[in-house]
Amino acid sequence: MDTKLDPSRDDLPLMANTSHILVKHYVLDLDVDFESQIIEGTIVLFFESGNRFQKQSGSTKEPCRSESNEACRFRMPEPCHSPVTDTRTFSSKTRSNDFTICGKGEKDTSGKDGNHDNWEQASGISSSKYCCDTGNHGSEDFLLVLDCCDLSVLKVEEVDVAAVPGIEKLTRSPKLTVVSEELRNQIVCELVTLPADRWREQLDYYARCSQAPGCGELLFDTDTWSLQIRKTGAQTATDFPHAIRIRYSTKPQGRSVTWTSDQSGRPCVYTMGSPINNRALFPCQEPPVAMSTWQATVRAAASFVVLMSGENSAKPTQLREGCSSWHYYVTMPMPASTFTIAVGSWTEMKPETCSSNDLAAERSLSPSEADFRYVGICGHMEYPCRFQNPSATTQEIIPHRVFAPVCLKGACQETLLQLVPPCLSAAHRVLGTHPFSRLDILIVPGNFPSLGMASPHIIFLSQSVLTGNSHLCGTRLCHEIAHAWFGLAIGARDWTEEWLSEGFATHLEDVFWAKAQQLDPHEAQEQQELKACLRWCRLQDEVRNSPEEMQVLRPNKEKTGHVSDSGSSVVKHGLNPEKVFMQVHYLKGYFLLRFLAQRLGDDTYFAFLRKFVHTFHGQLILSQDFLQMLLENIPEEKRLELSVENIFRDWLESSGIPQPLQRERQAGAECGLARQVSVEVEKWIRMNRRPRKRKRRETEQVFEKLLPDQLVLLLEHLLEQKTLNPRTLQSLERAYRLTQQDAEVRHRWCELIIKHKYTKAYKDVERFLQEDQAMGIYLYGELMVSEDSRQQQVARRCFELTKEQMDRSSAQVVAEMLF
Ligand SMILES: [Zn+2]
Repeated sequence: MDTKLDPSRDDLPLMANTSHILVKHYVLDLDVDFESQIIEGTIVLFFESGNRFQKQSGSTKEPCRSESNEACRFRMPEPCHSPVTDTRTFSSKTRSNDFTICGKGEKDTSGKDGNHDNWEQASGISSSKYCCDTGNHGSEDFLLVLDCCDLSVLKVEEVDVAAVPGIEKLTRSPKLTVVSEELRNQIVCELVTLPADRWREQLDYYARCSQAPGCGELLFDTDTWSLQIRKTGAQTATDFPHAIRIRYSTKPQGRSVTWTSDQSGRPCVYTMGSPINNRALFPCQEPPVAMSTWQATVRAAASFVVLMSGENSAKPTQLREGCSSWHYYVTMPMPASTFTIAVGSWTEMKPETCSSNDLAAERSLSPSEADFRYVGICGHMEYPCRFQNPSATTQEIIPHRVFAPVCLKGACQETLLQLVPPCLSAAHRVLGTHPFSRLDILIVPGNFPSLGMASPHIIFLSQSVLTGNSHLCGTRLCHEIAHAWFGLAIGARDWTEEWLSEGFATHLEDVFWAKAQQLDPHEAQEQQELKACLRWCRLQDEVRNSPEEMQVLRPNKEKTGHVSDSGSSVVKHGLNPEKVFMQVHYLKGYFLLRFLAQRLGDDTYFAFLRKFVHTFHGQLILSQDFLQMLLENIPEEKRLELSVENIFRDWLESSGIPQPLQRERQAGAECGLARQVSVEVEKWIRMNRRPRKRKRRETEQVFEKLLPDQLVLLLEHLLEQKTLNPRTLQSLERAYRLTQQDAEVRHRWCELIIKHKYTKAYKDVERFLQEDQAMGIYLYGELMVSEDSRQQQVARRCFELTKEQMDRSSAQVVAEMLF
């Protein structure tokens, strides 16, 4: 693996000047055309200017701003040269001076919801008179910088929100006689700050404003990573139009969406969690600090289903012949990077019979579980929050739908459908209130590069989780469900601290899954210990084989969360294609949380975790927010030598294996399930050594039935053997019916096949590389490394068959291995 990192290739720039102006709401209006593989339409952005947003998180009151301007490291944009040459200056004299009261100043400070923060009134906007960072664009106009890549921007214009009938109700001036920039901005300002209980009205106004006529084109320019917009004469963010409409189209090769075909061969398109997130889907403010709501109307041919991050369970509206329209919205502000869309000819899967699991939904809370039903105050900016809604807090199973290509109906009914209710219910028992009101689950096309992905209101699962028994499907589903809390409702303020979502989801996946299976405490502990054994092997392997600087969970150390004066920043290694395939952040984060839970005892730890969720949902956090609150909330005598500094040093800021973990594993963990595997491994090794003529006795050898995770461990142990003869491999496959097991087991089986050049089973490897692309790319490396021409042929043949469909990042990594 190449350890030399090229900054221009590895680091992901976040260009948006979120310190000057913030998007509060997006209205998307899009047409999806499968013929041309283009999504085309408009996006309207509603802004709030000034520094009101500087207090986003309850705990991190002062946003960190670094002295050095990191944005300077990027090529600065050329002067704007848009066709519009409006030299008329917009006199700064007309600039509104009363924006300080534009928040909630005079109204809506009704005492009962304490979220109308004082800082909104106190902060003022006076500091918003920034010149844009570039300094060299030849004018003193304010420059709006949006993250944007691979898009064709056709037109940018100001929206005349004052033209919307009835909009004057939002302003303090009774009649809209003189429509000025100032008035329009005042309207938007009132609109974006409407109180949470008026969310329906707010969404409706947003929709109507988005369709209002334009009132002047704006100058714009694009470069590799951004779209820059200015209005001649508008010198500050406050003067800049607060509602703008951008007409644009995506490009077929754009990196935010994948155009492909589903398992039934029909076309589809979806966002695949690209490293560049959604900036090739719509121009946006990418930094997580820009938390916004959105609504979208998407039109496609009537045979397609449009799924999206939206809290309403949308149904299509028939438009003109053969075309239908879908409308979704969210009322909880979230980073634009979490938005997801998928359009395809999917079918909603329903259980064949009503299952007994529905009964679980009726179960009421036991007194011990009720202790986390805090009602009332939340720490986030105002929105209609489920944590404040008593009927939402007790809902164990949220409404959900499952979509898949019709050819996977049987597989969905056998595994996935029965698993959703118990997994959702388990999550509720562990963490309490579901942060999102509903869920769609989609089985994505075969080229999806991972086993799953969670976005607000929608989970993507790979077809690979549908094979074998329910174990892999259940654990993965639990992992993605856990992201609703960690990753979505509570996001990382600094994307380099991704352990805050992945470490938590990995740790919680085991806990949820044990509850979903209704294991008794001993069984649950045994299974979790077995998982720890597997993850320990994996972590050691990853640490040996990945660049040191990419093994650090908090690489920015005390500079974590820092941004330039404009709000721009850089995500370290954010574009490194190998990073997608690394699990160090998952694994080290998982082991840290396991270590903490063991130190405190599960009861104390999970009671704390519920409290943490209650405090921080709807906000962005840094590692210290979690650790500080954890240590403050545990009694002195249980704290032992734990301190935030020690945890940073031992777990988050060093590469390699954390010392406390090393000590724990060396002490040797008791795991009955792993011991059972060792006994079986010995049997196989003895059998492998026996001369061929004693074959008859071998068949009498009795092998224990093993759990899927035990099978994985067994195969990993056998992978350490120098030689396994074809006879042994054949018996192994027969004894456990390996080709019918889940993808994790089959992956190890394929590794054995490759390592021991078991040519008879090469077809299993070929099948895996085509059907389990979510996991398949490691095997390409293994096929190439032995320099065996037959194996290399297998690799090249499979790549030839799949490369067109493969996502760009995977294809790039595989191509580097192969050629
Ligand atoms: Zn809340």
